Amino acid sequence: MLLYILLCLEVVLRTFLEIRERRLTQLRGGVFAVLRLIPLVNDIVPLPENRSDPPTSLFVEKHEEGHRVLRHSILRNLMKVAFLMVAVWFLAAMVTRWNWSFFEAILWLHLVAIPFRYFFNWYCWNQEFEADAYAFKEVGKQKAKTAMQELAVCEIPYTKLFASIYREHPTIALRSQRILKKVIGGQ
Ligand SMILES: [Zn+2]
Repeated sequence: MLLYILLCLEVVLRTFLEIRERRLTQLRGGVFAVLRLIPLVNDIVPLPENRSDPPTSLFVEKHEEGHRVLRHSILRNLMKVAFLMVAVWFLAAMVTRWNWSFFEAILWLHLVAIPFRYFFNWYCWNQEFEADAYAFKEVGKQKAKTAMQELAVCEIPYTKLFASIYREHPTIALRSQRILKKVIGGQ
């Protein structure tokens, strides 16, 4: 019973988040917006981040170099593996020890994973900020600013709350706020 109450709560909260997003950004969510409301389905729905391909600039190259120098992808993958192992253990425990049906176990896993995903996004965001700080040091303020402006044009401007739930990348508004102390683009 608790499981189904929590799932209903999830749908309600996601609906509120979606309506808030549509009102603040004045952008249509399309079919993905509906799919994001459905438990389990929303685990695999992709979130488009850009309207058009962002141009490569020296800042972007240095940002990627920052990821490499700081060993970000290996840390990210290690964390994914750790989460996956916990998930498999949890699933196995629910089915074998507690004798829950596989379907119910999957739904519980889906719910329990929500805060973990939030934490993972937060972790990724910090990596992005670190890579930005690295690039900023390498190319200087003016180039960083120009790059942020170019990226902002290509980006779909999600709000901070929405992005923190659904995106592994912080928005340009947040990134520019961090390195330039000035918000570029976004909400
Ligand atoms: Zn990055």
